[in-house]
Amino acid sequence: MRFCSLSSCSYANSVVVQDNNTCILIDCGLKKRDIKPFLDQAGLSAGDIDAILVTHIHTDHVYGLKYICQEKDFPIYSTENIIKKLSENYRFNTSVKYIAFDKYVKKKIGSLTVTHFKLSHDVETIGFIISGGGEQMGFITDTGYVPENCVDEFQSLDYLYIESNHDVNMYKKSSKPRHVIRRNLGPTGHLSNEQCGLALQSMGLKKCKLVVLGHLSEDDNSPAIAISNARRHLSPDIPLASAPSRTPGIWSDHFKSSNQPVPYNSPVNLRQARHDIPRAREYHNS
Ligand SMILES: [Zn+2]
Ligand SMILES: [Zn+2]
Repeated sequence: MRFCSLSSCSYANSVVVQDNNTCILIDCGLKKRDIKPFLDQAGLSAGDIDAILVTHIHTDHVYGLKYICQEKDFPIYSTENIIKKLSENYRFNTSVKYIAFDKYVKKKIGSLTVTHFKLSHDVETIGFIISGGGEQMGFITDTGYVPENCVDEFQSLDYLYIESNHDVNMYKKSSKPRHVIRRNLGPTGHLSNEQCGLALQSMGLKKCKLVVLGHLSEDDNSPAIAISNARRHLSPDIPLASAPSRTPGIWSDHFKSSNQPVPYNSPVNLRQARHDIPRAREYHNS
């Protein structure tokens, strides 16, 4: 299996996960104008996607749903509660097929299997373990802390996408309103670099092939700070990268063959770049 972040920040979040047979999108917070070009940069079109998983109803995760749903009749998977909130608060231009996850039951979506678990955010939010092709990926973002069960269950992951939202010291000096700062630093806000690092340490990832840090604040964090913090808590042989904020990153399977970053200004034919040439603009790795 492999995955690719299309955008990762407070502006818009969306990540593609696929194996040989099935392609799913986790969230679609993309602006209308970005959906087609961002998918294109990942070598995909909306027609390639089989289903959409929704983590929660914040705009940076669902804004583009109605636009992408005009392209194809996707099933949208989430919990019953999140689906209820989404259908109450969000207006689609087309009819939508919702599928609710059963509690504690794994969901088969094509050849991928999805397990969901609750996170701690100011609205109901879920994370995932996605299995396919004998590999497992953990996905955890928009949470005030990492739940205990993740620490145990994530030990054997092959890939991990985890939030590293802000640097606490930068955040305390932030110009954001006080109530926003309080919320984001609290138990139903976002995972700080420090919390992310401690979670990585506790997980003791044994055979992980790649950790990608996501949802970095564009104002109160930097890829270099987030990565150097996470690296301190992670075995040096595990590749580590941060997802770029408003542009697609490279596919995770690039890291299997090479962990070398491509120069920022490397000329890349995006269409050609489908699977083999990494697009490393704004993509940082250690
Ligand atoms: Zn978010
Ligand atoms: Zn959120």
